[in-house]
Amino acid sequence: MTIHRPGDTLPTLTELLNENKDVNIELSRHTIYCMDNESFRFLCAIHNGIKFEQDDKHNFSVSWDKSVAETNRLFEHIDGLKPHKTRDSLSLNDARKVILNLTKPLADISKNVQTNIAIINDKMIEITSSKEAQKGLLDKLYVPINDLMPVGLNYPRTVCTSSTCVKYHKIPETNASKIDYITHCHKHCGLTGVKPETYPNPELQHCAAMDANYNCEVCRCSWDKHMHITYENKLVPKNVINQTTRDLINSKKSDEEKVKVFIEELDNKVKALKQEEEQIRSVAVQFGIFLKMNAICPYNDSLKDYLMVLIGLEKDKVNAGGNDKTLNSLKAMLDKYTQEVKVLERSVLEQSILEQSMASGEHVSVLCPDDINKLVQSLYKLKENGKQIQDNMNLCSASKARMQSTYTETYYNARQYKRSGITTPGYRSGGYNESDKSVKQARSIFKPWKW
Ligand SMILES: [Zn+2]
Ligand SMILES: [Zn+2]
Ligand SMILES: [Zn+2]
Repeated sequence: MTIHRPGDTLPTLTELLNENKDVNIELSRHTIYCMDNESFRFLCAIHNGIKFEQDDKHNFSVSWDKSVAETNRLFEHIDGLKPHKTRDSLSLNDARKVILNLTKPLADISKNVQTNIAIINDKMIEITSSKEAQKGLLDKLYVPINDLMPVGLNYPRTVCTSSTCVKYHKIPETNASKIDYITHCHKHCGLTGVKPETYPNPELQHCAAMDANYNCEVCRCSWDKHMHITYENKLVPKNVINQTTRDLINSKKSDEEKVKVFIEELDNKVKALKQEEEQIRSVAVQFGIFLKMNAICPYNDSLKDYLMVLIGLEKDKVNAGGNDKTLNSLKAMLDKYTQEVKVLERSVLEQSILEQSMASGEHVSVLCPDDINKLVQSLYKLKENGKQIQDNMNLCSASKARMQSTYTETYYNARQYKRSGITTPGYRSGGYNESDKSVKQARSIFKPWKW
């Protein structure tokens, strides 16, 4: 019979905690609760017809009472603890989820910032190029850049990304264009387990749109050109020249002065956008490192992957006669991102070697899940792009959650349970049903037991 003491477990546990100083768990009466399962095993045995001496029965009874007392002591301790708002602190898993959900929005918005910068730069060149262009710009005082407004689809849609199947939609008043997925090969695709917004995706070989050779029956392109989308980003134009600047420009007498103010305003906007773009990239780099440091499965740089997808799409656009500004800036962004990840990785590595050599036992982790939360909040506060990031993030995580709930749906086969002799537990889709007999029985076992 077990003695109600930690026994052999204690030295092992002490050693484990000594090795992991960053895990702050004290070993005391408040953290150690000893129960045993002897009495439970006795109950099982007695129901199977095994006979016991009265002495044994008494011992098991004592053991049961002790376990009950320990359990109650544990509940009392928990009851007396100061409530902790679990929602305020992100778990490692939540942090990972947040980062993965932000990957696409951050890449999309960075790309959009690049496009906006290119639009403004074009206008700056335009205004100095000819008297005519100058007059046109000063008359209208209109330089439209675009915000991204995400619009969710209620279900995944299989679209084709081939240059022959998308439309390069010219953004009005600019030289930039946007890719529209106009070929909806399976409008409402019921396929599960497909990672949205990226391709190639082998799961899409099973999409209803594909024929026996995995070519699309709708557009005739191969499966690997197709992807699932769960939301679309609409472009919302806004004028760089706001009312205050308009008034200022109009108050100037000579065209020369007007042009000066106009260019100054555009220049300021480019600077602000570039600064935000750098901030976004710096956060993305830190996210990448966090994932790498906390990865259970092999590390996979999802931002890098998604940037590659965007670059592939832009290449098609350039081949189809579009300009290569966005393509070049995306390539530059990927280069910068990769470099910064490398630099930070090296510094993280150096720091951890330093820590080990110091052997101070003080473990300074690079980023904790709450830091991730702070970084996300700092993104939401960005003046030019914060709201767009937040809207995109909300929609992206909502659609992912919706997909997840379809993906994790499992079929409950009542017949199978009956066949295997397991009585149907009181499980309903909403959780445990208290009125169910088996639950009541389970609860009644937990009373101090005498005979
Ligand atoms: Zn499909
Ligand atoms: Zn297709
Ligand atoms: Zn196609």
